[in-house]
Amino acid sequence: MSNTEPRFRRILLKLSGEALLGREDYGIDPNVLNRIAGDIRDLHEKGIEIGVVVGGGNIFRGAGLARAGMDRVTGDHMGMLATVINSLAMQDALERLGVQARVMSALQIRQISEDYIRRRAVRHLEKGRVTIFAAGTGNPFFTTDTAAALRAIEIGADVLVKGTKVDGVYSADPMTNPSAKHYPDLSFDKVLTDKLNVMDATAIVMCRDNHVPIRVFDLTRPGALVRLADGEDIGTIVHE
Ligand code: UDP
Repeated sequence: MSNTEPRFRRILLKLSGEALLGREDYGIDPNVLNRIAGDIRDLHEKGIEIGVVVGGGNIFRGAGLARAGMDRVTGDHMGMLATVINSLAMQDALERLGVQARVMSALQIRQISEDYIRRRAVRHLEKGRVTIFAAGTGNPFFTTDTAAALRAIEIGADVLVKGTKVDGVYSADPMTNPSAKHYPDLSFDKVLTDKLNVMDATAIVMCRDNHVPIRVFDLTRPGALVRLADGEDIGTIVHE
């Protein structure tokens, strides 16, 4: 690990549920979970305060359940509970590595997690606890991308860091289109007008209006999180 002074004081890391799938079709690949937790520990050791929002797409998504005939609001409740499951798994993986972590849920599930209270969350961060924000925003019809933008703004994060499977934002899907162009630097407005696949529009607008830059990077590359904190311009930065 390098001794470079970190570029950020406090970050909000957004992990999609799919990032936890690894080689599995459903649920959590323990190897991937432990690897990501290790990257978070390395970042934590640099003295950076870390909030995490985990998605639930590896288990349930409300929109998918609604397509199969379920009531959308019930499906979204199940999706939010899926994020709680992932958050508990991440808390456990971090604690096994000796990193103090706390799950705070936007839905009250008091037997298994703290309720989300902003001032208490900030206190956890100040004390060096990785704070995992579960259950999205607590409301149906939202996404965990929007929850990540909301929590990033609420905790005063310097940056919202979004981990994906490719190294930033492209003009098209680089997995299927080899001529897709990589953007190292983008404005919020270009993301919105060109409908670039960064985060959903609600999350982009919230970050734009509240001056929180978004860094998109390849989470599948071990060590990328620390390189980012050391000041390397990896992936794509979206800013004003
Ligand atoms: N969800 C919700 N409200 C929120 C956040 C999430 O209802 O504020 C539900 C929604 O059904 C969503 C699911 O939780 O599909 C899982 O979240 P998401 O799809 O954002 O997870 P990801 O794609 O990041 O894995």
